[in-house]
Amino acid sequence: MQLLFLGTGAGMPSKQRNTSALVLKLLEERGTVWLFDCGEATQHQILHTTIKPRKIEKIFITHMHGDHIFGLPGLLGSRSFQGGDEPLEIYGPSGIKEYIEMTLKLSRTHLTYSVVYHELVEGLLFEDELMTVETRLLDHVIPSYGFRITQKPLPPKLLINKALALGVPKGPLLAKLKNGEDVETLTGQLVRSQDVTEPEERGFVVAILGDTRFCHAAVELSQGADVLVHEATFDGTAKKMAGEYGHSTVYDAAKTARLAGATALIINHISARFLPEDDKFLLKQMREIQPHGFIAHDFLELEWLQHAKKIRKKQPIHS
Ligand SMILES: [Zn+2]
Ligand SMILES: [Zn+2]
Repeated sequence: MQLLFLGTGAGMPSKQRNTSALVLKLLEERGTVWLFDCGEATQHQILHTTIKPRKIEKIFITHMHGDHIFGLPGLLGSRSFQGGDEPLEIYGPSGIKEYIEMTLKLSRTHLTYSVVYHELVEGLLFEDELMTVETRLLDHVIPSYGFRITQKPLPPKLLINKALALGVPKGPLLAKLKNGEDVETLTGQLVRSQDVTEPEERGFVVAILGDTRFCHAAVELSQGADVLVHEATFDGTAKKMAGEYGHSTVYDAAKTARLAGATALIINHISARFLPEDDKFLLKQMREIQPHGFIAHDFLELEWLQHAKKIRKKQPIHS
């Protein structure tokens, strides 16, 4: 799993930060990528990366503000031109289907693939054999949601050489051992599954939140997450203003991470008033409360290390 930040600004694009868009790359896990929010010019940002629009399997929209959705019609159209024929699933608040269908209709844009819309309702949104996605309503000036993505435990690994050495023949008995069953060899010796398998390992938990004030739903949604992506439109001193505009400060984001016991906090949706040199100051504020994390910038890429159970920065790929 990798997280690639395409746009990390708040409200309007600036030269340094485009509006919101974040890619959850699941190429190893499921051969696809998921997109969270799609601010204007997200497809331009994608051009600077190795992401293929046709690989986008799902798009999750946190809320209907323009800085999170104005890039959708263009991206959907380009996905058609670039040979996308796999169906696309879009999860978003009430109005998302109307917005997309009306824009495509009026601009005479015909898609080569089908779109399945899912209107957000709190609770479990999606589940298959690999992952679950849950959603909660946060506290913004319009309905805004957060998502919790959980990778299911990785299946136990069979230690084949150990099993063979204990006299298990190649074939169906190996599969039984892998599935947790004990077996008997031809010579009548019992081989226990637990002796020839590595235990199943937990996967990752990532929480990706839309615009929000500090709220308990955010804390609950990000409980114990390995990575929490949280907005901080304001620095820690602007508490009152953040509240009035329905946003968070760096302290609010850090407090949420701390209360939730999240391992790493990534702050995004940063106001254009902050310049790149302000990152240090924002990071310092964050670390007063939450020791581990980063201030996101456009094209920041993080990779999940399954064995170490942590994320780290990847080298920039921006060209
Ligand atoms: Zn926003
Ligand atoms: Zn907003």
